[in-house]
Amino acid sequence: MTRVAHPPPYRGRFAPSPTGPLHAGSLLAALGSWLLARAAGGEWLVRVEDLDPPREVPGAADAQLAALSAFGLLPDQPPVRQSARHALYHAALERLRASGAAFSCPCSRSELAAQHGVHRHCVAATPRPHPAWRLRVADGTTVAFDDGLQGRFEQDVAREVGDFVLLRADGCWAYQLAVVVDDAEQDITDVVRGNDLLDSTPRQILLQRTLGLPTPRYLHLPLVLDETGQKLSKSSAAQPVDPADPLPALRRAWAQLGQDPAPLRDAGTVDTLLRRALAHFDRTRLPARLHFQEASTTTGVDH
Ligand code: GLU
Repeated sequence: MTRVAHPPPYRGRFAPSPTGPLHAGSLLAALGSWLLARAAGGEWLVRVEDLDPPREVPGAADAQLAALSAFGLLPDQPPVRQSARHALYHAALERLRASGAAFSCPCSRSELAAQHGVHRHCVAATPRPHPAWRLRVADGTTVAFDDGLQGRFEQDVAREVGDFVLLRADGCWAYQLAVVVDDAEQDITDVVRGNDLLDSTPRQILLQRTLGLPTPRYLHLPLVLDETGQKLSKSSAAQPVDPADPLPALRRAWAQLGQDPAPLRDAGTVDTLLRRALAHFDRTRLPARLHFQEASTTTGVDH
């Protein structure tokens, strides 16, 4: 892995999976990570996480990148695609294999169901021609970190997650391995993303420690929840945002980030709106949670 001599003081990123058009939930993460990076005088990168062909929607990656441009969220370097970076993941897995930290595993999901999906030892009755590779997680492995918004988070990785997959039996790289390799290789200092990934972070920190890689700072933005506390799936957070009409969606995301709507109200162009957003951004207003009430109220501000 090539490392620059002096990593930047702040380098953030937005890492969408091309599973559909950019939606309100992803715009929130994109705008939040962009604002935090720019407010810190830092850099902001975009990485297309296209390692899961079965879940990928053809054309979605290009559409997401075009949408980000329409929203004025321009990265400092050309976006990279994980599908072009297999050699990096391969090298990381080789290191983990060589040190004995990774092992091949024939267990299927259904075979692990009796263990609630938590792998502690192999239970498969027969070997597989193409086994998965997992990271061995020793009993009692607990990882804690201080999230920039959610506070202290601690997980007993062995008990709650178990030995986790690095390379799937279908030959796809697991998100956990790829994200750790890329965040390190791209010298990311600050990971800002949706709160649905909070409980992936201990796995990522464990992998960083096992690979001898630095751990970035983490900040998990709130998800828009419905009145029962569930992530919205069919309603506003999952609706595609319209790149042809970027201002309303940007204002909505800004309000969902807890910011004062007033300075953006009469901004007539994306450039003006983002310039004002940057001038008025107050990270102390970022909400740890966002409830249905606030989400639907803020949805109303632009209509
Ligand atoms: N690709 C992931 C997603 O779209 C985000 C990964 C990350 O930010 O670490 O949910």
